[in-house]
Amino acid sequence: MIEAYRPYTLVAELTYRCPLRCVYCSNPLDYGRHDRELDTATWQRVFREAEDLGVVQLNLTGGEPLVRDDLEALVEEARRLDLYTNLITSGIPLRRERLARFRALGLDNVQISIQDTAAPRSDRIAGLRSFDRKLEIASWVKELGFPLTLNTVLHRENLDPASGCAAGWRSSSSPPTTTRSFPKRAWMAGGGDSS
Ligand code: SF4
Repeated sequence: MIEAYRPYTLVAELTYRCPLRCVYCSNPLDYGRHDRELDTATWQRVFREAEDLGVVQLNLTGGEPLVRDDLEALVEEARRLDLYTNLITSGIPLRRERLARFRALGLDNVQISIQDTAAPRSDRIAGLRSFDRKLEIASWVKELGFPLTLNTVLHRENLDPASGCAAGWRSSSSPPTTTRSFPKRAWMAGGGDSS
């Protein structure tokens, strides 16, 4: 018997907007020309249709998904559908109270993008002083009891032996779960984004 094709994961890119300017990002910066994001009801319908198709995991990403004011409503609907829901974020716009709210609404996992293991290089790659802020947010994630994933895009500027990225995060103060990834679209188009 041949099993029917069944998608497992939905990656929902909620917006192009993002406070960072990573050197490898392929998302458009001229947001004015790309201001027609899907509205709340449409995304909720997409989640329901995905769940009907067999999807069990939902990744909420962008751009920076936290810039969406309706993220709570989207997490709520994902919880109602019993989807395992992962927030993929730069972390920059996050406040602790909002993170606690996501916890209460049923968000399952938080994935923070960090551009390097050292602040100067991470900040340069991100185009914004953001490293210390990301570590602070990672500590909130752990305090609130979420599983935490770190996402670091590997490229020639952070692969040399001086960078901890080549070997993963080792500092005891660093969060425990690390995934490494390559720019999503690099394989196809030579660009990418990571949040
Ligand atoms: S790679 Fe991700 S975090 Fe960096 S600018 Fe692009 S969308 Fe923002």
